[in-house]
Amino acid sequence: MIVIDNCAVATVDAAGSEHRAGHVVIGDDGRIAAVGAGPAGPVDPSARRVDGTGCLATPGLVNTHHHLYQWVTRGLAQQSDLFGWLTTLYPVWAHLDADIVHAASAAGLGWLALSGCTTSTDHHYVFPPGRDDPLAAEIEAARRIGLRFQPCRGSMDLGRSAGGLPPDSLVEETEAALLATEAAIDRHHDPSPGSMLRVSVAPCSPFSVTGTLMRESAALARRRGVRLHTHLAETVEEEEYCRATHGCTPVEYAEHLGWLGDDVWLAHGVHLDDPAVAKLAATGTAVAHCPSSNARLGAGTARVPDLLAAGVPVGLGVDGAASQEAGQLGAELRQALYAARLRGGPAALTARQALALGTMGGARCLGRADEIGSLEVGKLADVALWRVDGLGHAGIDDPVAALVLGPPAPVALLLVGGRTVVEDAELRTADADALALAATGAHRRLLERAR
Ligand SMILES: [Zn+2]
Repeated sequence: MIVIDNCAVATVDAAGSEHRAGHVVIGDDGRIAAVGAGPAGPVDPSARRVDGTGCLATPGLVNTHHHLYQWVTRGLAQQSDLFGWLTTLYPVWAHLDADIVHAASAAGLGWLALSGCTTSTDHHYVFPPGRDDPLAAEIEAARRIGLRFQPCRGSMDLGRSAGGLPPDSLVEETEAALLATEAAIDRHHDPSPGSMLRVSVAPCSPFSVTGTLMRESAALARRRGVRLHTHLAETVEEEEYCRATHGCTPVEYAEHLGWLGDDVWLAHGVHLDDPAVAKLAATGTAVAHCPSSNARLGAGTARVPDLLAAGVPVGLGVDGAASQEAGQLGAELRQALYAARLRGGPAALTARQALALGTMGGARCLGRADEIGSLEVGKLADVALWRVDGLGHAGIDDPVAALVLGPPAPVALLLVGGRTVVEDAELRTADADALALAATGAHRRLLERAR
């Protein structure tokens, strides 16, 4: 049992309950046993006590879009738009192997934990032929770091010779991609309550995947009861591609393929007209908002306040580290608020709405709103305790404002299912210096190979 006392608490429950000085109690079952105002009630004397003075407890953040392998291809194609960036990086990614993906994933996940993230998804869609399984490698990395993980078995089957963007050497045969995706579900997916690992099905994007693979992937996911993820409506170039190739917008194309529904979450959703927003809302389709990546690639600014007003579930994602080198989910709270306000003015998004995007919004994207995303009795004990009394935050009375508007807050304690992953702003499950060294080595090996 763990008892955190004397901390501010933002539960992000349906009522938005907050406590200036409160407590969170975590049971030995890895679930929240109590949360509320004032000190915790009588507890087992053997419980671990954590003094939360000067801290804010929130639900652990939920990362809804990432490509962890990109951790070792950061800093490249610095001035490119999406298509130019992809065509620069595809030839490098063609040399990935399982060891490189493991090093990249462990570094990326360790860094995410240090920014308050307790659950992350990952979208892996590069499977160079003849190499060990990169999906298994990133799953092993997630186990090592201790984050709750939702890897998406991605796929591409539309190479350049068939009108797609990726080189032919990087795409799979349609049937082979489907078989490998189902094999990944068989091997890794754990649907049980409190699961640390759930697999999703995730063909990559309209310009790298055939309509057949999109349709068959949706059928596979629904037959197996897993969720669907893909990139959609990220750039104006993608919209032009869809109009030229399919005679419709990306969201109309997704609808046509059976890809709208409450079991689908879409990365980006930047370029959406009013009918598209209405379609997402009517079908319960969720959006992973990636404001820093959208800014880095100059893709545009998503209509998050409009999506929220329409009732669309919206979560936050850091996106692949090669299009967003910072890779910190905590910092995306502020970036999401800034992006919304640059587009819609100072009332477009509040600090509390930004926190909700990063917690409950993410939980809804991943289909786990009943288990994570808020601090409520019975939910999984995925908790971030942020230090908001140091030099960077001192004097900001509102702890939620300190977290969202202030600089990235140090994580005093990060619990995943009650297990300590970060303490005193240090990773406790792995050696951060060793992760950095391995990532640097993997980067050098990969670039050497690509040369
Ligand atoms: Zn992405």
